Amino acid sequence: MTFAALGLIDPLLRALDSLDYRTPTPVQKEAIPAVLKGRDLLAAAQTGTGKTAGFALPLLQTLTMQGGQVASNSVRALVLVPTRELAEQVHQSILQYGQNLPLRTYAVYGGVSINPQMMKLRKGIDLLVATPGRLLDLYRQNAVKFNQLQALVLDEADRMLDLGFARELDEVFCALPKKRQTLLFSATFSDAIRSMAKELLNDPLSVEV
Ligand code: AMP
Repeated sequence: MTFAALGLIDPLLRALDSLDYRTPTPVQKEAIPAVLKGRDLLAAAQTGTGKTAGFALPLLQTLTMQGGQVASNSVRALVLVPTRELAEQVHQSILQYGQNLPLRTYAVYGGVSINPQMMKLRKGIDLLVATPGRLLDLYRQNAVKFNQLQALVLDEADRMLDLGFARELDEVFCALPKKRQTLLFSATFSDAIRSMAKELLNDPLSVEV
């Protein structure tokens, strides 16, 4: 099995080649074709399984194929993560995967000054990685708009709940368009995660690795 066989476009295949990714991991084999088709996803996947590429590659491809302009302060795809370290790490991976694509990507998180983030968001962002608290701050200040949002990823959803982000997450979910693609990744499945999945996902493909 190759990445080409999963239906990825040439600019992504060239990026993967430069990173020496030869074979898709199990979560990538299942997630990439499903996400390319627009399906929702519920994935039980730990760190180290290749889950980041599993959601980032197909989302980058969909955003590229759709083309079009992202409006000022708008975001077309949103990846929520529990910590600023993970936000940076996920965004670094996304920059590598998207190195040959004409997309704007960015990461926002707390603990650093908000003003440069507000400036950067003005031009609009195709794919934004964010921690929930800082995203809400930016949303409340009208620095980020969700009217163009078409895809939401919850990465390490269980850790977001463990860190006490349930209320922030609910507020973000309420602000998002109902018609969108949603992908939920979690290492563990508590009742709270199950009910979040039930509320957010529409006929999801379940993936367990
Ligand atoms: P993740 O689970 O997304 O944090 O990825 C774990 C590590 O595996 C990261 O260092 C990735 O760069 C690497 N990785 C992900 N997918 C592949 C692949 N198909 N081939 C080789 N390395 C990969």
